Amino acid sequence: MNTAPHTAPHTEPRRPLVDRFGRVHTDLRVSLTDRCNLRCTYCMPAEGLDWLARDSVLGDDEVVRLVRIAVERLGVRSVRLTGGEPLLRRGVVGLVGRLAALGVELSLTTNGIGLARTAAQLREAGLRRVNVSLDTLRPERFAALTRRDRIDDVFAGLAAAKAAGLDPVKINAVPVRGVNEDEIVPLVEFAVGHGYRMRFIESMPLDAQGAWERDAMVTADEILARLGERFDLVPVGRHGNAPAEEWRIAGTQAVVGVIASVTRPFCGGCDRVRLTADGQLRNCLFATEESDLRALLRGGADDDRIEAAWRTSIAGKGPGHAVNSAGFVRPERPMSAIGG
Ligand code: SAM
Ligand code: SF4
Repeated sequence: MNTAPHTAPHTEPRRPLVDRFGRVHTDLRVSLTDRCNLRCTYCMPAEGLDWLARDSVLGDDEVVRLVRIAVERLGVRSVRLTGGEPLLRRGVVGLVGRLAALGVELSLTTNGIGLARTAAQLREAGLRRVNVSLDTLRPERFAALTRRDRIDDVFAGLAAAKAAGLDPVKINAVPVRGVNEDEIVPLVEFAVGHGYRMRFIESMPLDAQGAWERDAMVTADEILARLGERFDLVPVGRHGNAPAEEWRIAGTQAVVGVIASVTRPFCGGCDRVRLTADGQLRNCLFATEESDLRALLRGGADDDRIEAAWRTSIAGKGPGHAVNSAGFVRPERPMSAIGG
């Protein structure tokens, strides 16, 4: 469906995407859809969540154009595709191929359900790494937590990702009190045993139903205490601006990560910018304002204008999120429509 005025490759020297605190933004998260084939309880209600209108979702040409501008003009070097469930997007393998051709390091966050049939094609198309969400190893618990009986598809997807040569294959789990925090150690054992890399994410107040409770969040300290009962952990620190703090299990090469967005915010090193499936630029996961790149795209704006809008958005980025302050205001968009 495009649309975009075609422009020759940009030959000006890139100016990095720097905000007023000196943070350089090189990592772009692109949501390909807000739809999902699971209904994880910490993310979505069982039903009643409205999807984005189909005609508001960017087409492939529009996504490719925005990512090209980010890469050629703004110095973006890595792109992570997410959602909703990105593998639900029709033609995702072709889109991955077009984005990989822009020369970015391309990765994907998925619930793993569609991976068994797509992993090899995605790898072939240029995908490098994958994160698969898996919060429990128990089928009944998985069915209760995601409201769908699909754990075998996730296991098959993980195996296919590894067999396809996606490297690393990481597993993301969100521990929730009284739900799955007793599986923190078993998940690590499973991951280590299969050659996957385990990461735990503190739950954040970004669920669509607004039911997040601080007390139900399993904190980084608690996660580490549980791990410490079973493993000797050697701190590795953080890779560059990566959100995960990492620990190596002593005597092995296995590494466990913890993303503690709430109790140990890492906003000071944030290098991320997000593009929603409907073409809204967000300078923070918790932003309450967005920049409408879709309107610019569809209004015929040239690349200079879109680049300028992108820079203006980043110039307005705040120092950090306010989840821990009394004045915190949740963004209207839930995680599933932002792109986690
Ligand atoms: N559907 C894909 C998946 O589940 O991996 C990609 C989108 S999902 C929104 C991306 C990541 O966000 C997943 O690892 C998921 O567990 C995490 N997530 C979803 N809701 C969350 C919440 N309220 N707090 C913390 N992480 C959350
Ligand atoms: Fe879907 Fe991912 Fe949200 Fe689960 S966390 S409901 S898989 S978008």
